[in-house]
Amino acid sequence: MSTVVEQVWATLAHLTDPEIPVVTLRELGILRDVTETPDGVEVVITPTYTGCPAMGQIEDDVRGALDKAGIAARVITRLAPAWTTDWISAEGREKLRRYGIAPPGACADAQPIHLVARGITCPRCDSAQTERLSAFGSTACKSLYRCLSCREPFEHFKPI
Ligand SMILES: [Zn+2]
Repeated sequence: MSTVVEQVWATLAHLTDPEIPVVTLRELGILRDVTETPDGVEVVITPTYTGCPAMGQIEDDVRGALDKAGIAARVITRLAPAWTTDWISAEGREKLRRYGIAPPGACADAQPIHLVARGITCPRCDSAQTERLSAFGSTACKSLYRCLSCREPFEHFKPI
């Protein structure tokens, strides 16, 4: 790994998701790759959800951080392969849970709609007795659940 590539990773390490400020872009798997090409350094980002309104801001944040560090790099938004919740690191999942968002299971676990959603545990009390209130939470990326044990509503990052 070249020095400039390491510099870019270090520069972007603190950038977080605009909607979930506790998790970094790298932990979410949005910050995909940094490569040195004959044309300069390329930073590849992949939006979590196509059309996610936060993506424009993420791109701006990445550009801004690179500018501030004086690093000339191109920011490339790559849509294929499509982002999947499987790209969220173990650390990212743990941070989501502590933040009060139930982290997604693996894509293969994507559930059909049930009144009581099995497998989605309450991030507050760990109860598996939860129900889905709405397919959409504060953003299209998340759905809204309620815990039947502690009665607290919480958001679940949808597996895709
Ligand atoms: Zn609970």
